[in-house]
Amino acid sequence: MSNSFKIAVLAGDGIGPEVMAGARQVLDKISETQGVSFECEEKLVGGAAIDATGGPLPEDTIKTCEESDAILFGSVGGPKWESLPPEIQPERGALLPLRKHFGLFANLRPAVCFPALTHASPVKEDRIAGGFDVLCVRELTGGIYFGSPKSIEEQDGEKVAIDTMVYRASEVERIAHVAFTAAAKRDCRLTSIDKANVLQNGILWREVVERVAAEYPDVKLDHLYVDNAAMQLIARPRDFDVVLAPNLFGDILSDEMAMIAGSLGMLSSASLGKSKGDGLYFGMYEPSGGSAPDIAGQGIANPIAQILSVSMMLKFSFGLNDAADAIDGAVRQVIDKGYRTGDIYTGSDDQKKVGTVEMSEAIVNLIS
Ligand code: NAD
Repeated sequence: MSNSFKIAVLAGDGIGPEVMAGARQVLDKISETQGVSFECEEKLVGGAAIDATGGPLPEDTIKTCEESDAILFGSVGGPKWESLPPEIQPERGALLPLRKHFGLFANLRPAVCFPALTHASPVKEDRIAGGFDVLCVRELTGGIYFGSPKSIEEQDGEKVAIDTMVYRASEVERIAHVAFTAAAKRDCRLTSIDKANVLQNGILWREVVERVAAEYPDVKLDHLYVDNAAMQLIARPRDFDVVLAPNLFGDILSDEMAMIAGSLGMLSSASLGKSKGDGLYFGMYEPSGGSAPDIAGQGIANPIAQILSVSMMLKFSFGLNDAADAIDGAVRQVIDKGYRTGDIYTGSDDQKKVGTVEMSEAIVNLIS
């Protein structure tokens, strides 16, 4: 296996560059402790790219991403660029084209509520005592968001809106493999979400997922209708391990899970594309939150989401599972030791309020 990896680093706007600095320190420490090397090339994206070049996704940035093993992304956007035409706004003009260009079909969003942070969740503490750790796997390039026809037209004197939900068996199959592979590396439980009692798409989804399951005999599969899943995930999140869903359902359920996990500043995400074999993928890794203009430039953003996105990159694109575990372990320890950025600080005596730099350094120091 290779021990040298090229990473396109796109820090972007707002808190992006602040939290990316911590992620870079983590990569340096992993390089030192695990004997691997990372060649990081920083490129412009989003508002920063608009200011420098006139567009949110310069050719040069795409080229570097194409030449890299993975993309480490910060966040884009902010009030300065909100009045630009939609197609060149940072999110629409950079994030969506990157997803399309690299065929990023699988979105992985861990919803992790640490035992010491259950107070930050809106769910009653007795339901989540000890925390929870659910991985949402959402199909990202198919389903009702992209099916054709898609229109608003005039019929019989009134407007009619049409969206079409289409899934090919091969699309369901490849996302199912991502979810089963992830489950096999975790607690070996997978819940597949559909609406097979109403939608033809649901019938095909379930049939294909069942077929793929036969290749992963160690993973226990069950199915939930999406309406029931919305209730069960909030009522008993500790009972779930990996949740697999089509695009629309996954969009909604992964946001529900992010909400009940507590702070956005703790949640990372991965969007995976082409398979490299051995259960590894080309991918783009980023925090679940945005550029947080309300706190940008103050040095108080939580770097943990960005640092955990590094851990996901090491696991899903580079196969460096021990290194990923070392990062996850350091984050857990730093929380147990009481380090808190403002978004997760409650003021109790056993907590130490820190800024972005101090939190990043504390994590780096705990990686061994
Ligand atoms: P946001 O996620 O940036 O912020 C929502 C709230 O969460 C804010 O109060 C913010 O301070 C807080 N927050 C987010 N990340 C945090 C962190 N690491 N540490 C501490 N607090 C954190 O969402 P928004 O305010 O709706 O959007 C702000 C800008 O970000 C907009 O321009 C939006 O388009 C953009 N955005 C970008 C992405 C992306 O780049 N992937 C995603 C979402 C939003």
